[in-house]
Amino acid sequence: MKLKISFDDIAPAFEQASDSSLYMFIDTKENRIVVLSDNEATDADFEIMKRPRYVALPRRDSKDDYFRMESFTYVMSCCDLELVQKFHKALRQNKPFGNFRDLLSQHLEIEQQWFAFEKKAARNDAIDWLCEEGIELEGQRLIPEIEIRELDEESVKKLPDEIRVLKARACLQCHNESGLEARLFAASTQIVNAMIENEIYRILKDKYSLSEYAGWSDDSQTVLVAAKCPKCGSEEIFFDY
Ligand SMILES: [Zn+2]
Repeated sequence: MKLKISFDDIAPAFEQASDSSLYMFIDTKENRIVVLSDNEATDADFEIMKRPRYVALPRRDSKDDYFRMESFTYVMSCCDLELVQKFHKALRQNKPFGNFRDLLSQHLEIEQQWFAFEKKAARNDAIDWLCEEGIELEGQRLIPEIEIRELDEESVKKLPDEIRVLKARACLQCHNESGLEARLFAASTQIVNAMIENEIYRILKDKYSLSEYAGWSDDSQTVLVAAKCPKCGSEEIFFDY
C-alpha cells in the first residue's frame, strides 16, 4: 500500500497509541491521523474505523515499553558499573517503570541518553511496522543511503577478534565442509530497523548475488557476513570460530 501521509505524523501517533485510552488510525484517503478516545468516541465511531480506508496503528503495551527500557540498560554509556547494575536491578523489582524513571531523574546525563534512545527506538519501531504492513510512504526516504563494500584481507585483519576469526564451517543444506569461504562486507549504517535490513538484502543481491547475510555491529562499524556453498550453491551456512 502506498500512502502520502508524512512519517512525521505517523511516528508520534505510533508512540501515543500506548496510551490505554487512545486509538490511532491512518485515514488513507485524507492522509492524516484520526484519534479516537475511549472516553469520547462512540461505538459508531469505532465501527466507521473498520472501513478499509482506515488503518489502525498497533497498540504498544507495557511489555514493549519494558523491552525498550531493558534494551537501554544494555547500551547506556556509563562508566559507573554500580549504577548500571542499579538500572538492571530496578527493572527486576516491583514497579519497574516507576523505579526506572526515579533512577533516571536522579541522573540527568543518563536521562538525556534515555530520551535520545527512546526517540530513535520509537522511530525504528514505526519503520518496522510500516515494513511489516507493506506500507510505503510516497516520496519519503526514511533511511540513509547505504553503502556496502567487500572487505579485503588487510581490512579484515583490523576487525575485532570476535568477527575476524569467524569461519564458514559447513553447508546446512548438503553438509559440505570444504571450499567454504566467509565473505565480509562493511555496511555504512547499523541495522536498526527492518527497512535497513531489507535494503541491505537488496544491495547484496544486486551487487554480489548473495541472498543471505548475518549482521554484526559494535560502536564504530557494521559488518555483514555471508558465504555460499561451492557444491550446492546454498547460502545457509553454519559459522563458527
Ligand atoms: Zn551445500
